[in-house]
Amino acid sequence: MREVNEKYGCPIACKYCVITKVECRKKLWDKKTLIGLNRAVTILNPPPDKNDKKALAEFYDFPLELLCGDIVGFNAISDPFWMKYENELKYFLENVSPLAKLVVCVTKFNVSDEMLKKLSRIPNFRLNVSITGLDAVEKTKTSDRLDLLRRAKKFKVKAFPIVHPYIAGMSDLSFLPELKKLGYDFIDFKGLRYNHENMKTWMPKNSQKFYRGTEEKEILPEDGWREKVESAGLKLQSLKKWYKKDCKNFQPKLKEKEARESVGKILPFANITSSATDAEVIRASILRRT
Ligand code: SF4
Repeated sequence: MREVNEKYGCPIACKYCVITKVECRKKLWDKKTLIGLNRAVTILNPPPDKNDKKALAEFYDFPLELLCGDIVGFNAISDPFWMKYENELKYFLENVSPLAKLVVCVTKFNVSDEMLKKLSRIPNFRLNVSITGLDAVEKTKTSDRLDLLRRAKKFKVKAFPIVHPYIAGMSDLSFLPELKKLGYDFIDFKGLRYNHENMKTWMPKNSQKFYRGTEEKEILPEDGWREKVESAGLKLQSLKKWYKKDCKNFQPKLKEKEARESVGKILPFANITSSATDAEVIRASILRRT
């Protein structure tokens, strides 16, 4: 896989990357990178520039106790399994998994068997495999994503497929029946944030028509994808629900006052990245901890 020198992004180099190609999000991450917050998780991000000593110290000095009782992701501004972040991933898994309800990674990488074995020893680890059927605009293959989901079953790592993003007229969903055969019953779909200047060169006009003028809002057109999910024997479930169902009985559970204090202390470090309102995201962050 080709390494890139871009400050942000990763070797997968998705042409629709929300970190590098969507202006409203790029602006957010240009200001601060350490924490991302949405309704499902809090994400701890290592610095994009590993030579930035101050940013690296900020990552390692972050008071992890503020993540106690939460569902915590690692590195949403790049791929969590990129070797560049090997040490930071190790630090995250060793130090956050004992105090969080769940620790999670979303990936498009070909995670090795050796890494899957390590992950299988962390009972509260969950793997989200992004599988989009967009081989033409990502430096990864759908067949490799399916293979990762197959190997996750083999190594007993709890995994969940997510089509993120679905692009009308481009995403090839012919892999859905294979997911069912591999033993996956649920899947989530997310929309695309469209930036015309950055995406017009590769997106066919027939697809653009669904997104033009949507001003980088997340758009998931109803063009028949739900029927394809159903005919493959799969059911839709949001990632948030999958986490919630899975961690219902997980500890620790904080008192609401403690949870509120932790979230209040995290906010100055955080970018809220959600289609929901800030108040909804903050409320969900508090509830996850209780
Ligand atoms: S895998 Fe994620 S971070 Fe990497 S290029 Fe694709 S969208 Fe961007």
